[in-house]
Amino acid sequence: MKNMGLTRLVLVEPRVFPHHEADARASGANDLLATAQVVATLEDALVGCNLVLGTSARDRRIPWPLLDPRECGTKVIEEAAGGAEIALVFGREDSGLTNEELQRCHYHVHIPSDPEFSSLNLGAAVQVLSYEVRMAWLAAAGQPSKVEKDEVASTKSGELATMDELERFYEHLEQTLVAIEFLDPEKPRHLMARLRRLYGRSSVSRAEMNILRGILTETQKAGRGELLKRKD
Ligand code: SAH
Repeated sequence: MKNMGLTRLVLVEPRVFPHHEADARASGANDLLATAQVVATLEDALVGCNLVLGTSARDRRIPWPLLDPRECGTKVIEEAAGGAEIALVFGREDSGLTNEELQRCHYHVHIPSDPEFSSLNLGAAVQVLSYEVRMAWLAAAGQPSKVEKDEVASTKSGELATMDELERFYEHLEQTLVAIEFLDPEKPRHLMARLRRLYGRSSVSRAEMNILRGILTETQKAGRGELLKRKD
């Protein structure tokens, strides 16, 4: 990642860190290990992020908006130009990312490898994506940013809801759906995953998120019969 100009590394619950072998292999990029942030959960790692791209070698049960590495590079550079905080999420060397972790991502990125042998080593996958980000950055360097004029004012990247705000919204949404008996916790039928996918691809702004939260609060009140009482 340092070769390609990327510097901010966040490690989620590393088995051993720091480690002399990692230091040795980093040769020359030890500053990235020294400044790496270590967090306990993926959720912690994504606090403050506006756009999250998760990588996967496999197809999952619920199809998700999918980018190839080139599209991923372009998207990263376009959104970064608009001020977005962006995370590229990679999985464990042996087991990749869980479905739950992948469902926290706005987009999935798949390197179109041979389906018969699709899984790259983690380091190789990181290199392919970092390279595409660099190529997109080089292509955009010196060109005026298209992002500002193309985007509708209310959804400018700088104003997009952050991952932690989105997470609080999903919690609120789930509680509300359970309260109004739209969601049966015994038989969830991937409802929350489908809703995450829907909102994830909508680039929800902070102001829009406040509207949605307001609707949920009123829905909960209505569910408790409070609105009827107020009208009496
Ligand atoms: N058995 C795991 C493979 C993990 S490979 C699985 O099937 O998910 C380790 C990591 O490298 C993955 O979690 C992903 O972040 C990245 N990776 C490997 N191959 C990839 C591919 N073809 N496309 C995108 N990312 C890939």
